[in-house]
Amino acid sequence: MAEYPLIELYIDGQWKRASGQPIINPADESVLGTVPTATRADLDNALAAAEKGFAIWRSTAPAKRAQIILKAASLIRERVDVMASAMTLEQGKPIEQARLEILRGCDIIEWDATEGLRLYGRVIPSEPGMRHTVLRQPIGPVAAFSPWNFPMSSPARKVAGALSAGCSIILKASEETPAGAFQLVRAFHDAGLPAGVLNLVFGNPAEISEYLIPQSRIRLVTFTGSIPVGKHLAEMAGRHMKPAIMELGGHAPVIVCDDVDPVATGAASAIGKSRNAGQVCVAPTRFFVQEKIYEQFAQSFAERASQLKVGNGLDPSTQLGPLANARRIDAMETLVADAKAKGARVLAGGQRIGNRGYFFPLTVLADLPDDARAMNEEPFGPLALVNPVKTLDEAIERANALPYGLAAYAFTRSASNAERLAESVEVGNLSINHFVASVAETPFGGVKDSGYGREGGTEGLQCYTVVKNVSHKTL
Ligand code: NAD
Repeated sequence: MAEYPLIELYIDGQWKRASGQPIINPADESVLGTVPTATRADLDNALAAAEKGFAIWRSTAPAKRAQIILKAASLIRERVDVMASAMTLEQGKPIEQARLEILRGCDIIEWDATEGLRLYGRVIPSEPGMRHTVLRQPIGPVAAFSPWNFPMSSPARKVAGALSAGCSIILKASEETPAGAFQLVRAFHDAGLPAGVLNLVFGNPAEISEYLIPQSRIRLVTFTGSIPVGKHLAEMAGRHMKPAIMELGGHAPVIVCDDVDPVATGAASAIGKSRNAGQVCVAPTRFFVQEKIYEQFAQSFAERASQLKVGNGLDPSTQLGPLANARRIDAMETLVADAKAKGARVLAGGQRIGNRGYFFPLTVLADLPDDARAMNEEPFGPLALVNPVKTLDEAIERANALPYGLAAYAFTRSASNAERLAESVEVGNLSINHFVASVAETPFGGVKDSGYGREGGTEGLQCYTVVKNVSHKTL
């Protein structure tokens, strides 16, 4: 029997219970527990703790910091099964995907921890008697806001980046899927992280961000979520001269050239799209397929999509779990109805399954006009849009037509096509011939409305630092 933990706040090394909102299981709409709401006094305590924690952590030797962070990762690896079932209960994803998310979160934590040992500055050659030394120092206490779609790996990216660079952090994780972050924080507590370095709060997202971001003690804001909220928080951060990492929505194009196997690529696309039921900022969504292989590709995609086993994520045979909340069902129904009204063909799925639990099948729509809402608004759900294109140039033009610029994918055997795609597609992450948008050691983030700053890789860690030039003249 899968167990769901009692969720608590974590401030200055202490766990705190409080009343709050119910946490809903998206598979059957039952109540799993309560997420505690932090009071204003809790937030003030978290700010004071983060300031104190920063003073301790920045002066802790990097090797010691890495040791504690790595210990937390190893505890998480030991606890993966318990953590995964709690995440499936709250978020819906199939249990194996929850496990993989946690293990990927550990990869990120471990990579950041060791890269934190190499946050080198540099010495700039200069005239005799003068030395310019560039130092990279931790930026300070971070306010972090993580979303509901990756309850563990999204907060893990933020916590690992901040801690590995020597910063303290106040994490406001998702109220809808709090167990992933709660269990992550518990592992750091158990690993011996000094009190105040990491703090976890929940509550009303707008109230918390509006209170924390302007505080002079907060030196960096990091947010993963929707573009409208990201723009609002970035504006607030800008007003208070805080740098920000904004990892926002996407509407990933997938360019399929006619030199690939359409059947295999169609089937792989269905699997790529089904991950976390499409509730992923890098989910492959707008498929632009060269005419010669279009019908075969679309048919294979639809066939594989229809074969996916939909059900409760705790059942190990489930391949597509419920959507995480009722808002996603409403969004899918609205976008499908609009596309159909504008002439799209429904090749697979298209309708909610049952009326208890938020189940929606992988839906493949073909031949959508450019003004269909789904072609312009991020579906953030199991919706794939398949359209034919004549040339690679046309595909690239259509891929770049939206204000989003997070991830893109392409399938081709031609090195010259790959080169042209690498040069021209306006995104932060382009994956060619596979559907993995990022790994621990690579920088991840967007361009255009999809945001700025990076998570992961050396570039990600550097976002948690400030550069100081020390110019020293010898006497
Ligand atoms: P939403 O815009 O209401 O919320 C998005 C996220 O922002 C949530 O985690 C929410 O708790 C948080 N949030 C909302 N207002 C906030 C505020 N004022 N201060 C701080 N945090 C705030 O939408 P939603 O229905 O929860 O999610 C749907 C949309 O969000 C999707 O269409 C998708 O674009 C986006 N989203 C993106 C990601 C991502 O990985 N980039 C993750 C989750 C959601």
